[in-house]
Amino acid sequence: MFFRITKSLVIVLALAACSAPKKMAKTDTGTTDSLKAHINYLADDKLEGRRTGTAGELLASQYISSKFLSIGLLPKGSSGYVQPFEVNEGKIIGPGTKFSFDGEHLTAGADFFPFPYSANVKMEAMPSIAVQEADMPWFFDLKDVLEENKSNPHFDLKDYIRTNAKKAKDKGASAVILYNTSAADDKLAFDGKDRTEMLSIPVIYLKKEIAGKYLSDPSSTIKIFLSVDVTEKKRTGANVVGYIHNGAANTVILGAHFDHLGYGEDGNSRNTSKVPAIHNGADDNASGTAALIELARKLKASKAKNNNYLFIAFSGEELGLYGSKYFTEHPTIDLKTANYMINMDMVGRLNDSTKTLTIGGYGTSPGWPVFSPTAYRMPNDNKIMPTLNIKIDSSGTGPSDHTSFLQKRYSGVILFYRAAHRLPHPK
Ligand SMILES: [Zn+2]
Repeated sequence: MFFRITKSLVIVLALAACSAPKKMAKTDTGTTDSLKAHINYLADDKLEGRRTGTAGELLASQYISSKFLSIGLLPKGSSGYVQPFEVNEGKIIGPGTKFSFDGEHLTAGADFFPFPYSANVKMEAMPSIAVQEADMPWFFDLKDVLEENKSNPHFDLKDYIRTNAKKAKDKGASAVILYNTSAADDKLAFDGKDRTEMLSIPVIYLKKEIAGKYLSDPSSTIKIFLSVDVTEKKRTGANVVGYIHNGAANTVILGAHFDHLGYGEDGNSRNTSKVPAIHNGADDNASGTAALIELARKLKASKAKNNNYLFIAFSGEELGLYGSKYFTEHPTIDLKTANYMINMDMVGRLNDSTKTLTIGGYGTSPGWPVFSPTAYRMPNDNKIMPTLNIKIDSSGTGPSDHTSFLQKRYSGVILFYRAAHRLPHPK
């Protein structure tokens, strides 16, 4: 869709993207103070890093909702300003997972674990350890295959186990019970991120000490009780969505994610210390969220009425764009009327020497040449932003929420993104 971008919108975005300048026009101190206040609140330790699904994320969403309300935005979530969505954290070993040998109970996780693709079943059986009978659990020692493949870099043990468990099922096994009596470290562990298709039988791994204690005599039979309970762990996050209705045919979507990494529990932190620490996320992305709020205030007060404006503070971004994906699949406006989408991520800290800001998504629409470096650079007599350098990137896909919109092909997307930062975007 072809579109026009007003100069005022560009300047407001540029202003929002600028780190605190030394000289400031009097009329802009209010905006700068507000930007700082938003960032100070969102990045405060009290919010504990705004991890999706936590109390800190809730406080952040309540703060953004209250600002949208005071600015006079219409609520455009699914419940007031908020739009809750579920995040699937992967699989966990549920409390119903149990295993006993001859009445002696083992501890799930410590003594044994089911593979995540195991069928959730309960069974009692009296198998012979060395004999593979129909409708009985089959035991496998991984010793031979590990030794045979110890210098084979292409050997994939997980794939081997899954493939052979399937074969065993086809030959009549009611369960597969694996163990490893070799000296080789098999590195097997429960992997909650394993999304492979479920099998129709359970596949269990026994730790070495347990196998040594109960399975050392292959000629024996043993009474087993097995119950598998592998479940999905879910938590709920929420986008915050506000709207300016100008009665226009088209709507401009402006977005920034407000979630961050919490204490780094999701494994997406670069903190190498063993001590958990709050990841405050002032730049990533309290900065973009603050810009979003102030942009809403400016546009609500402005005479720009040619578009409607939708403001979305996304959550779930750090976990994999969950909030924006959910929004594009459950939009609260007709996305066919969306003119374009502008996303702001890490706009709060420019590299001191290069003072460069990246604008991504330049190639996603023929309408974007308005963002040429010369058009964007502030004139020298403008005290707000004298020396901002713009780096243009034509690709509209990248590790932030604009990608969800581009994938839906509704409109051109633009990402404002801090360039020349030394570390890649957390993912
Ligand atoms: Zn980010």
